[in-house]
Amino acid sequence: MSSLRFISAEEISGVLKYDDLIPTIEMALKDYSEGKGSKMVQPDKTLIDVEEHNGFCLVMPCYSQPNQIIATKLVTVFPDNVEIPSHDAAIVLFDSTNGKLISIMDGVYITAMRTAAVSAVATKFLGPLQPETLAILGAGVQAKSHYKALTTLFSFKKVKVWSRKRSSAEKLSSEINAEACDTVEEAVLDADVIVTVTSAMEPILKAEWVKKGAHINAVGACKPNWQELDPVLMQSSRVYVEDIDMAKKGSGDIILSKAEIYAEIGEVIQGTKDGLRCQTTVFKSLGMAIEDSVSAKLVYQKIFN
Ligand code: NDP
Repeated sequence: MSSLRFISAEEISGVLKYDDLIPTIEMALKDYSEGKGSKMVQPDKTLIDVEEHNGFCLVMPCYSQPNQIIATKLVTVFPDNVEIPSHDAAIVLFDSTNGKLISIMDGVYITAMRTAAVSAVATKFLGPLQPETLAILGAGVQAKSHYKALTTLFSFKKVKVWSRKRSSAEKLSSEINAEACDTVEEAVLDADVIVTVTSAMEPILKAEWVKKGAHINAVGACKPNWQELDPVLMQSSRVYVEDIDMAKKGSGDIILSKAEIYAEIGEVIQGTKDGLRCQTTVFKSLGMAIEDSVSAKLVYQKIFN
């Protein structure tokens, strides 16, 4: 008899907490940079463009020996959706000791939380030690999850939100007790930590607005021809990524600015590369299957162990 279980977003939200997820993600990023290609196998993502609807689908497979899992996330991104969310996703999880399919689960909730947890880890290793002001550019799903993950690790005195629509910034600000701003410049003024979580295809954040020594988690612009950050900002900052090859192939912010990548965040966690907190740092996030798979395994263990 099959013991396969579908795990819904509601069940995941009941068991997945940042206190457990952030250390799990930190370990996974370190293990990934150490064990790439042998203990951690993560083939390139497959991107299927659906140009007529300005959408795309990503197929993200991986094998993690330390976690004894094989997993694939299927995620669609349709930024123009109005009535329904812009992202949808499912994660398929297999036991790597015997190849058995153990679960299919909602991938939307995990995508929101694991992406924010990755940014929280990057901020811990790259950002100012006692950040006081957080600026969030964008007011959607990732904006909210980033607020929750970052405030799990840091006590900000001030949080500012900008979004393309003033109403979106106001709505989020009222939910998280933040200040809604009219312009990006106003939001990032004096910010120690900046999060860019928009569906922008052109740069929205300029170098001259950013305080020296700030840390930026650049989370949107997950395609080779999309940008969120001004190329001058990319060029003048220390740039960190999850995986160097993936970033060189997949990030418009890196490809179009020709910015040099300093290190993978996993190398900084290992201690083989510096975090350089005194300089302005950019963590260019693209999302990795390994992040989804360790999060999915954590959910599975919480529910069944
Ligand atoms: P949502 O659809 O929930 O929110 C999108 C936000 O972007 C809204 O605040 C919207 O503003 C704003 N926006 C939309 N179009 C534009 C534009 N052309 N210029 C500026 N702002 C715009 O998306 P999510 O929060 O789920 O995702 C945010 C970004 O993060 C996306 O690019 C997504 O693909 C990316 N992402 C990255 C991941 C990673 O691992 N790196 C993982 C998951 C998502 P308004 O409401 O004011 O119109």
